[in-house]
Amino acid sequence: MRYFLKHDLLEKVSMSQDTLTHPRFHRMPFTLNRGNIAMTLLLLAVVLVLGSCRTREIVEEAYEPSASHEEYRRSLMAMELDDTALGRAWLSQADAALEAPHTISIPFQEIAHFEPSRPEAVGFRFEALRGQRIEILLEIEDGEQGKMFADVFRAEEGGANALPQVASYSDELNRLEFEPRRDSEYILRLQPELLRGGRYSVRIQSVPVMSFPVQDHGIRHIWSFFGDSRGGGTRVHEGVDVFAPRGTPVLSSVYGTVRNVGTRDLGGLVVSITDEERGLVLYYAHLEEQLTQRGARVAPGDIIGTVGNTGNAITTPPHLHFGIYEPGWRAIDPWNFLYEFDTEPPAIAGATNKIGGAARVAVEGVSLMKTTPEAQAFSLSYDTPVVILGASAASYRVVLQDGRTGYIPVGVLEATDEPVRIAQAFNAEP
Ligand SMILES: [Zn+2]
Repeated sequence: MRYFLKHDLLEKVSMSQDTLTHPRFHRMPFTLNRGNIAMTLLLLAVVLVLGSCRTREIVEEAYEPSASHEEYRRSLMAMELDDTALGRAWLSQADAALEAPHTISIPFQEIAHFEPSRPEAVGFRFEALRGQRIEILLEIEDGEQGKMFADVFRAEEGGANALPQVASYSDELNRLEFEPRRDSEYILRLQPELLRGGRYSVRIQSVPVMSFPVQDHGIRHIWSFFGDSRGGGTRVHEGVDVFAPRGTPVLSSVYGTVRNVGTRDLGGLVVSITDEERGLVLYYAHLEEQLTQRGARVAPGDIIGTVGNTGNAITTPPHLHFGIYEPGWRAIDPWNFLYEFDTEPPAIAGATNKIGGAARVAVEGVSLMKTTPEAQAFSLSYDTPVVILGASAASYRVVLQDGRTGYIPVGVLEATDEPVRIAQAFNAEP
């Protein structure tokens, strides 16, 4: 069991977690007793499985998708809590967070509050790039608020229950991480147990999955890019060139095995490394010296050679040609595997002590940004009562009396002592 469970209910339902069908394992839907047709189907299934491997995210064991939210949902239904307004609100909030998430950009940070008496879930939708690892740091400030479910789904067509679950929060590590297999959008859903809640902060950032291949150098020393024309237009550049003084150490960017140490017409002295986490091949060319052997195990930062200008670089200044290949020798752009995006989110401008409190719109015609791409922003009139759910950058996330949520600029609200009554959930019936 991955979770430390305080709650009796969850403790009970978690016992059966291991028997659940893991989303990553699909039972082969074919039998082999129909000769050629079955064999054709089997081959097709193998192709589909191999094909899907390349689009699957890389997730460390600690962040493997957890069934705990689904199990909790089932336990509410088993106890017939879905017949109560409160239970229905919890279930509809879970779906709404995936069907109408807030679109955000990373790095992102929000301090927020779940009100225990009002079932609530929140979804954040963001874009993630292949070559970057997404790190989600979640801190729950109050220790007595029960379990927080935090799960990431790949945003695809289809209803809330059809989205592939990618990764889940680890309570022990206070974080969640995954690596996209391709550029894609993802949804983080946060939801506490029924009648639990409290204050929390969430931060989403993106870091490159590979370390830079030239010692004491960085992305600014890449002066020639992937896809540039080569050989008078007869081929394209299948990598990036990092310019550095002759003899500068060249480093492994990954955990892996040295696949080849050799000599090529174009590449001169070359080293290639198999990336054991991703099944990619890293290709280092124009080396002055090769300082490793075929079969050697390497880690990020290990010296494998030095910068030179061997091969067809003999007339150019010393540089490392660095390439990344997928199986089948398809070259891919190394840029996003090396680029260090800013990880510091915009400062929170709102008053964090107002989070969870009531407020009123103090100017006329403020737009409530419902940040889903489909949704229109709509205008709020003067004096509209809201409850502040969270603060992020220069905005508050608020909920209106009818249960609608969205972001508004921090400067347009005025705190009030008058309580604001919020419908239990948008779709809940009395
Ligand atoms: Zn090059």
